[in-house]
Amino acid sequence: ARLARGGDALQRTVGARERYDHTFKVVVAGDSGVGKSSLILRYADNTFNPSYTATIGVDFKIRTLDLDGRRVKLQIWDTAGQDRFRSIVSNYYRGAHGVILVYDVSSAESFEHVPEWLDEVRGHAPTDAVIALFGNKCDVPADRRQVSLEMAQELAQQHRMDHFETSAKAALNVELAFQQTARRMKANARPPGS
Ligand code: GDP
Ligand code: MG
Repeated sequence: ARLARGGDALQRTVGARERYDHTFKVVVAGDSGVGKSSLILRYADNTFNPSYTATIGVDFKIRTLDLDGRRVKLQIWDTAGQDRFRSIVSNYYRGAHGVILVYDVSSAESFEHVPEWLDEVRGHAPTDAVIALFGNKCDVPADRRQVSLEMAQELAQQHRMDHFETSAKAALNVELAFQQTARRMKANARPPGS
């Protein structure tokens, strides 16, 4: 199954000048409007665009990073949450090394849906995929917050996920959260060349 992974196919297409020790596919999931596209834009391009157009279908962005002297390439997949795209979910998760589940700290509803997203991930992603939980929009004022840090940490602990509160808008914790998730994927991966 490892050989069939998209990441390996991608690795082969990388030119001689650009070699990576690891290429990981990361998919980002969660309710519509929680800031999935904004998080990817912040992490890959270090920008925030409040009028960024709604994601249609599936798209991905590339970000490379150095982890303990290893060159890591992340292929970060973005998708729309609309029901009309549900038929593509099994393809979306195929070969994923990591899944980032995003909720919005100012939306209790988006947090309540996390268990459903987990079911979907477990049904479609490889069993050894790393799953992380990001609570986005942590820049919102306290009176708009609907999900406490403690509630989210408890859920994350139950499901053995790393948890981070992030803000794509204010660039809070985004770098750290993706980096830590990449670190988990690297720890999960076979050493390069084996
Ligand atoms: P997606 O549907 O999950 O891809 O969500 P988007 O990235 O399209 O963002 C939905 C809305 O939330 C947009 O209006 C964004 O400007 C806003 N948004 C995204 N991230 C943040 C954030 O970190 N803080 C705040 N306050 N708003 C955000
Ligand atoms: Mg989007």
